[in-house]
Amino acid sequence: ILVLTVVFFWALSILLSYFLSHMNMRPIVKSWQRQQDFVANAAHELRTPLTIIQSKIELLLTKPHDKIINQMEPIALSLSETRRLNQLTKELLVLARSDSNMTQVTYQPTKMAPFLKQVVAPYSEIAASQKKQFRVQITLQATQLIDQKRIHQLLVILLDNALKYTQTGDQIQFKAWVHGNRWLLEVADTGVGIAPKNRKAIFERFYREDKSRSRQTGGNGLGLAIAKWIITSHKGTVKVLANRPHGSRFILSFPVRRH
Ligand code: ADP
Repeated sequence: ILVLTVVFFWALSILLSYFLSHMNMRPIVKSWQRQQDFVANAAHELRTPLTIIQSKIELLLTKPHDKIINQMEPIALSLSETRRLNQLTKELLVLARSDSNMTQVTYQPTKMAPFLKQVVAPYSEIAASQKKQFRVQITLQATQLIDQKRIHQLLVILLDNALKYTQTGDQIQFKAWVHGNRWLLEVADTGVGIAPKNRKAIFERFYREDKSRSRQTGGNGLGLAIAKWIITSHKGTVKVLANRPHGSRFILSFPVRRH
């Protein structure tokens, strides 16, 4: 029995080493490395607001008899950092679930024109309040199979960015149309634009062109990573181009899917 056991384990180890040396380990190592980076970046991003909140609460505790009106700055800052944490954890959860394929795409037949109009409607008011022009052109009439919640989330990400990276007097344009057997969406703005060399990187998790500006505008670099996942899960593609005279254009293209 002893001899048989030794021979068995010896054969097993030879088989294992044969498979491991012939298997292409590169993608596995790469995806493991990506997960490691994701966790490290997430921890880093969570730490910044937590450190601010901790220091502000410690400051409040040093002045227990001070009137609340004199404590507004640390309280307001703690609140805004808590909101940031809340948003960050929500986005991290979406990405973590997408990695483990826990989120199913639920296709629903959707009349695209009224659906899109409803999604973009609040942006007219927000843009007007920021003295920016907002134009909408929807010629996509057909019913499509989409995951409404996800497509809504995707448009919110792109339109929020268009508002974030533009200034007073700038223009934002939203278009939806059909071309052959694809339907397309475009969000264009006349804002700061994206350098051609960075147009691929903006879809990476935690990537921000200008970290300090992003922090002021409340961004954490996860929006477009989520957008990319939603586009891919709908079998779509995305192109980022320059706008004229300045700014950026995000053009999304999806296969027509009718029920
Ligand atoms: P953030 O939360 O920083 O906006 P995103 O993932 O949504 O994160 O975007 C990543 C980066 O891409 C941003 O930090 C910004 O540099 C750039 N970006 C995204 N949308 C636009 C836009 N409409 N105009 C200019 N830059 C943009």
